[in-house]
Amino acid sequence: MDYSALDLIPEPILVVDQEYKLVFANRRAKEVYGEGPQNCYGLSHPSEMHCHEIKKHFCPVNNLREQEVERSGVIHVHRTLQGDKYFYVVIGYDPKRNLYAEVHIDLFELVRVLKVSGQRTEFLLSSGPVVFFQCKKEKGLPVEFISQNVAELLGYTAEDFLSGRVSYGELVHPEDVERFKGEVMYHTENKSPFWTHQDYRLRRKDGVYIWVYDHKIPLLEDGGEVVGYYGYIMDITEKHEQEELFHVLAESNPYAVLLYDFKDNRIIYVNGNATRLFGCSKEELLAISDPTSLVYPADRRRVLENIAKRKEGYDGLISYKMRVITRGGGTKWVKLTSVVTHYKGKRVSVITLVDISRDIKREKQLTRLATRDKLTGAFNRHALLHDFERLIAQCRRYDTYFSLIMFDIDNFKAFNDTYGHFVGDRVLKETVRVAKRTLRKSDILGRWGGEEFLVLLPMTPEPYAPAEKIRRKIEAYGHRHNLKITVSLGATVYRKGDTIHSMLLRVDEALYRAKAEGKNRVVVL
Ligand code: GH3
Ligand code: MG
Ligand code: MG
Repeated sequence: MDYSALDLIPEPILVVDQEYKLVFANRRAKEVYGEGPQNCYGLSHPSEMHCHEIKKHFCPVNNLREQEVERSGVIHVHRTLQGDKYFYVVIGYDPKRNLYAEVHIDLFELVRVLKVSGQRTEFLLSSGPVVFFQCKKEKGLPVEFISQNVAELLGYTAEDFLSGRVSYGELVHPEDVERFKGEVMYHTENKSPFWTHQDYRLRRKDGVYIWVYDHKIPLLEDGGEVVGYYGYIMDITEKHEQEELFHVLAESNPYAVLLYDFKDNRIIYVNGNATRLFGCSKEELLAISDPTSLVYPADRRRVLENIAKRKEGYDGLISYKMRVITRGGGTKWVKLTSVVTHYKGKRVSVITLVDISRDIKREKQLTRLATRDKLTGAFNRHALLHDFERLIAQCRRYDTYFSLIMFDIDNFKAFNDTYGHFVGDRVLKETVRVAKRTLRKSDILGRWGGEEFLVLLPMTPEPYAPAEKIRRKIEAYGHRHNLKITVSLGATVYRKGDTIHSMLLRVDEALYRAKAEGKNRVVVL
């Protein structure tokens, strides 16, 4: 297709395909935006960001698709070679070629032309969702121009407004009117170059209120005085109702609910239960500059990986357990569930956090009860056998090794008889504590029975040194009343073909020899 005829038109014109890729840019477009970018949003913005990803920057192509109209017009800020400029972007769809044609009309020029030529509002788009307007900075905001499609939005015709039969100001909902006026005053006084009102309600001719999105740009006189405003309004009732529904659902949710903008790393909404979970107010949570700082450091990597997944476009359910940091530095275990939704035009995660601290604590207690010896806190026989089996399986599979030590308190019967069971119990506890201190974190110490203990030492090819260390430390330990306690130790290393049984036989034999050779010594077999 030859588009070169479009070069004759003195406004920038772009032809884009369904993927926003530039099929053609006329000569004027290249003069205004320069050469280079391959898509329409690339011409509009310095980055490769899509229009709808930028806050309050509607994509006219998307508008057209969603509204199923033939033409649409929106006001856009475009980054031109001469700096930022406002354009009224009018867009049409060519179903034959499945392409969109955009005309970018310099808004400043447009307003000037309209003003000079009188109230020719038919000049502006009369279909589509965007109503273009210009009004004076006077009481009731008298309308100077308004596009014809205002009739579809409000039921009143452009004529109704232009003749003064209807004043825009009186259509604003009584509950919203003060806020609306306040915003106009604030932005006028502060000389804002443009602003978007907080959503407010307008009364239609049939009496029904609709929610509108209102973007305004002050119209300046030569002296810089604000004399009026121009901009556009859109019906966002449906979106608003969806948001309201979301809020109601979130507030009645028994768990903490957060809306997280993963692209900008910001929390944009929290429900009441989230404030209770973190012990912070809504305002505090919304103001956090890096929400991942709420995650316990050791769990942060996982969170960042999942955020990266979202950014790459993954929309599926994500769920995992992690810890969060609450006000005052405490930690809580939570189960996180995340899904993706669109909120105020952005892709965001809806995150639900269920406090599972109690479950985790109970789980830990149960595990402890099931695997530990009550008196000494060392692992019990059951847990020892479990790890023993695991180590043997590992050795068979990966051709590695581990050591096994068995020790028994010397002459403990006599000790008990002399000092009593109670003192004996205390000695047992202290002996475990002393032995444990000599071991590595990965070593497993358990009570095999009575005053007999087993130690499993993964990846240890030589058990003599650790066994001797246990012996020395226990011998050197200063018990109360100068009581002396010693232990005898048998030790061995995994050999190819070993079973739990064969290793136990060997270590038992080693211990027997240590006792037979005079106790308080180590024998390795
Ligand atoms: P050896 O040097 O040959 O080991 O002599 P021993 O007296 O220690 O002999 P043995 O190992 O057979 O003695 C086991 C004693 O350990 C019997 C019992 O009084 C004591 N014992 C076993 N379990 C406990 C316990 O839970 N608390 C206390 N206080 N004593 C225990
Ligand atoms: Mg003994
Ligand atoms: Mg014994």
